[in-house]
Amino acid sequence: MKNILLFGPPGAGKGTQAGILKDMYQLEHISTGDAFRRHIKNETKLGKKAKEYIDAGKLVPDDLTIDLLFHELEKHPNANGFILDGFPRTVKQAEALDEYMEKRNDDIDGMLALEVPEDLLVERIKNRGKTSGRCDDQDEEMIKRRLKVYHDKTEIVKNYYQKHNKYFGIDGVGTIEEITARLKEIVDKL
Ligand code: ADP
Repeated sequence: MKNILLFGPPGAGKGTQAGILKDMYQLEHISTGDAFRRHIKNETKLGKKAKEYIDAGKLVPDDLTIDLLFHELEKHPNANGFILDGFPRTVKQAEALDEYMEKRNDDIDGMLALEVPEDLLVERIKNRGKTSGRCDDQDEEMIKRRLKVYHDKTEIVKNYYQKHNKYFGIDGVGTIEEITARLKEIVDKL
């Protein structure tokens, strides 16, 4: 059983790499961003609440996000392991995840963080916006706001995993294959 967290700012390539790694290691891929977008599309109660925050480039409040994540995890009782993408984004979320794992006699094996310079992130997100239809990807001001939220609230989550010797920084610049190879080298050792 392997439980991996993919970490990094918006546009770092978490979704792309998670999609590849899940097949490579037979893991369930859970993206809280994708799960929120499904709720929005289906116009659920949670979707309506989450939309306000997502459209404003803010984080969805922890209680809603933590409930969503647990619900997603519980959809796969026989999973071989999980790859989480976009969670945890706050220290409170990291603590809630640890408690959840502990109750199940399970653990997070490592946080793999994709490191990408800011100008490249903006460029990648804008390119994604041309095809993704995500309105949070199409407006430069909104992109900058999400990057600021990342620096203000999410980046410190790194310290939480560093303290537990579970943090691995990875150069996120290169081809998709090159970055997968860098990630694989670490996942194989976990
Ligand atoms: P990106 O990483 O490119 O910004 P995501 O698809 O991961 O895109 O997330 C889209 C939006 O969903 C975020 O801007 C945020 O509003 C919300 N979101 C996703 N995951 C979380 C989380 N763990 N905590 C709070 N909000 C979240």
